[in-house]
Amino acid sequence: MEIKYTSTRDKNVIVSPSKAIVTGLSHEGGLFVPTSFPKLDKSLDELSKMDYKNVAYEVMKLFLTDFTESELRGCIEKAYDDKFDTDEIVPLSEVDNAYYVELFHGATIAFKDMALSILPHLMMVAAKKNNINDKICILTATSGDTGKAALAGFAGVDGTKIVVFYPKNGVSAIQERQMVTQKGDNVKVVGIKGNFDDAQTGVKNIFGSDEMAKLAKDNGTVFSSANSINIGRLVPQIAYYVFSYVTLIKEGRINAGDKVNFVVPTGNFGNILAGFYAKEIGIPVNKLICASNENKVLYDFFKTGTYDRNREFILTTSPSMDILISSNLERLIYYIAGNDSDKCLKLMNELKTRGSYTIDDNMKAKLDTFVGGFASEDEVSERIRELYTNDSYVIDTHTAVASSVYKAYRENTKDETVSLIISTASPYKFPRAVLKAIEGKDREDSDFELIDILNNVSHVAVPKAVTDVINSPVRFDIVCDTDKMKDEVLQFL
Ligand SMILES: *Cc1c(COP(=O)(O)O)cnc(C)c1O
Repeated sequence: MEIKYTSTRDKNVIVSPSKAIVTGLSHEGGLFVPTSFPKLDKSLDELSKMDYKNVAYEVMKLFLTDFTESELRGCIEKAYDDKFDTDEIVPLSEVDNAYYVELFHGATIAFKDMALSILPHLMMVAAKKNNINDKICILTATSGDTGKAALAGFAGVDGTKIVVFYPKNGVSAIQERQMVTQKGDNVKVVGIKGNFDDAQTGVKNIFGSDEMAKLAKDNGTVFSSANSINIGRLVPQIAYYVFSYVTLIKEGRINAGDKVNFVVPTGNFGNILAGFYAKEIGIPVNKLICASNENKVLYDFFKTGTYDRNREFILTTSPSMDILISSNLERLIYYIAGNDSDKCLKLMNELKTRGSYTIDDNMKAKLDTFVGGFASEDEVSERIRELYTNDSYVIDTHTAVASSVYKAYRENTKDETVSLIISTASPYKFPRAVLKAIEGKDREDSDFELIDILNNVSHVAVPKAVTDVINSPVRFDIVCDTDKMKDEVLQFL
């Protein structure tokens, strides 16, 4: 079955998968979505005998139907190699009545590596297919982890350039250091005076600007996106939902067909949406539990049907989830609106002008797979301490949001369905918050010194990704106002 992509905001847009990947965002601001969902064409038992790369192929081939088998397998080979520190690519750990799906074994120790180690390769194949000879300039807004993962993915890739914008005071010291030490001639990193939403809005404005597109074209460049609005990010993420499910079959923990819960620490709604897509293609899912930190706009949405970003933006210890505009939710809205782009556009316009929208009861009824939950800062640190003390398992703050939400969900609902907690970062990415949770007190030491201390406390080996950045020189110290983001891009072109 050939899959085409349309825009969540304009039904007249119909493009091939490769075109959707090179374009990133549809020109009128909508997100690309498949016009229908394919189904897995291998049985769950067959899939359970495959390694990660083969599962990834079986999933991605369904969505990227204009890629040949050798193109797609080539991209997968280049992505899921020894950049990962484990052959399994995605190991599972069973701790305290749940399976932790560890997605942080890649080059930048956060789950963004799962998609961003393959996106550059998908994009180069897609560009060739669409006879694009211009350079592709990737523009990325990051709440911390996407930036580094995108930089690492695109650095040195011929025919590409990448600019990353991050909130100057909104990321951890390790995250910032990872980005500003990035090597490569085709990369640029800029801190902005604002939060993640400001960075994301700035990038969206550049994408939406005909003037910027023309100026870029004059320089032989087209813009594209590595944010999770790119379908080339979303599709690779579906693979680990399938892989973790079939791993449980392989290990005899479930039988093929048994339903499971996935608990997903959520910010921009990309990760959990991939879980929803996995369900649509045939993974038996009971609940998708959407876990928010104190920026609980999604929790409120699932509870009330009103999405309202008019609230205080809270800086938490899980900065990659400090988001009030969850871009990928638009894809779910489109779906529950019955693939009605006019209805979706209307709601997104309300979000833009009023900062809120409310879905109707029909749409709300279609959200029954989703459960919203949130964890306070205290609950997050309590959960980190609890798992460390009782199970000697050290989790990062984002994973702890999910773990805490799951614990409360299980207690409140008595739902004993086998549950998988999506683990999105290594604790070494957030050593200060993790140590504080474990020890119950702040330390004076720098984040970099805390690495060694965390190592002593946790006995978890320090990932190479961390030692590398500590020893690398800082290359970028640019900070700009949000209205100057365009100029920073133009300078780079
Ligand atoms: C990006 C990120 C998230 C949130 O993922 P979304 O796809 O934006 O919902 C959660 N945890 C970590 C560590 C992240 O980097």
